[in-house]
Amino acid sequence: MKIIDKVYINGEFVTPQGKSVFDLVSPVNQEIIGRVTLGNKTDAVNAINAAKEAFKTFSKTSVEQRIQYLQQMLEAVKERAHDLIEAMVKEYGGPLQFSSASFQNALNGIQTNIDLLKTYNFSPIYGNTMVQMTPVGVVGIITPWNASNGFICSKLATAIAAGCTAVIKPSEMSAIQTQILTECLDHANLPKGVFNIVNGYGNEVGTELATNAAIAKISFTGSTVVGKTIAHEGAATVKRITLEMGGKSPNIIMPDAILSEAIPNAIAAAFMNSGQACIAATRLLIHENQLETIKNLIKENVQQLTVGLPWEADTNIGPMVSKKQYQKVQDYIQLGIDEGAEILIGGLGQPKGLEEGNFVKPTVFINVTNSMRIAQEEIFGPVLCIITYKTLNEAIQIANDTSYGLSAYIQGTDEEKAKQIACELEAGRIVINGFKHDPMAPFGGFKQSGIGREFGILGLQSYLEPKAILI
Ligand code: NAD
Repeated sequence: MKIIDKVYINGEFVTPQGKSVFDLVSPVNQEIIGRVTLGNKTDAVNAINAAKEAFKTFSKTSVEQRIQYLQQMLEAVKERAHDLIEAMVKEYGGPLQFSSASFQNALNGIQTNIDLLKTYNFSPIYGNTMVQMTPVGVVGIITPWNASNGFICSKLATAIAAGCTAVIKPSEMSAIQTQILTECLDHANLPKGVFNIVNGYGNEVGTELATNAAIAKISFTGSTVVGKTIAHEGAATVKRITLEMGGKSPNIIMPDAILSEAIPNAIAAAFMNSGQACIAATRLLIHENQLETIKNLIKENVQQLTVGLPWEADTNIGPMVSKKQYQKVQDYIQLGIDEGAEILIGGLGQPKGLEEGNFVKPTVFINVTNSMRIAQEEIFGPVLCIITYKTLNEAIQIANDTSYGLSAYIQGTDEEKAKQIACELEAGRIVINGFKHDPMAPFGGFKQSGIGREFGILGLQSYLEPKAILI
């Protein structure tokens, strides 16, 4: 069993003042695989003070120095690739395929900031005025349990690129992953206090970050409900905020789509990371005349998925992160039945032979209307809703009829038409044909999926404060 009894403040692993202990439970068999001692408000304040002190000098570093620090960070993280992927697989059950891709995203999040720094102009001229893009200050970074290391790496790398210092509060459920990443960052030889990492509960360590006046900006990834609390609490000290929150992304299958390609892609996009992904394409919009054909294709494709132990190379769908998350998904499947939707494949309960873990049957509902709660609320599990449309205009209207707006997907052979549809969709990222990621493209949500953007130039600028100097 892994014991984690330190937090990382001012360049050192230190014993936290907090005494609460949190058990890390294996999602495949409920065994306790680790125990973490959580930091408290005092630990958060100590970390903030260290970051505040470090900011005095780190904010004055040259671009070349910061590129060097990011290189050191990149090398240190790369060295522990195997350990970081293994921890993700064991601690929260991320399938090996997904966890390996997620690790690559963590590296991309660092590398793209190195690339950006090589060309970004920190002193542009606007009108007749010299503008200095100055680091915003100490940043509070709050991350969820899914793809934890990717979020920490990309947010911290952007903070470092901008000349900011940071206090990171990862999810308490990711403590093993966090411990390995902290060891990497410790080996990276960054100046003391530039990054500090405090495990802790959201309503204690997280609240301190959201309310402490020394924190200039919060970068949060997590649920919409918590994001709203942070925005509310941060308002008292007028914090800059970047919120990356939930989603209920539509996937429009145009009538001219090649279904033998579009449907496997749709299943993969819906069930990625066992459905525990903010960008999962969980509402599949198809033309009503194609329902019968698509029903068979969906069944065939879902039957081919392997639900199983996350470390097996051929596993597509692993367990839900916790019993609580498993139960939440079950409750939504029951709700779908109660609302009058019909199960095409999957359903309640666990797949045979996997009863010890938090495994869910990949489930697809048909006869779903967009007003049903299963079509409106984020389930965060392998549950897909199929909704039919009569015209592409109606498809666009259904796609936009949601309080979320993180991602959207379109499949079809007429790319010009697909681009026209993309222009009408209310989502921060729209992918045409397949599933693509570009670490230089802005990422973030419309509506209640978020505020602000991460990655690329817009991501970097969200850690900078423009100062106009008029002579
Ligand atoms: P969560 O909102 O419960 O927790 C996220 C983080 O916030 C954790 O570190 C948690 O401890 C902390 N927190 C909780 N209460 C807090 C408070 N009052 N003040 C400050 N911090 C607090 O989310 P989760 O269950 O860990 O992750 C799943 C959610 O994250 C889903 O809704 C998913 O859509 C979302 N998510 C969004 C993105 C994105 O990029 N948009 C990416 C991944 C996950």
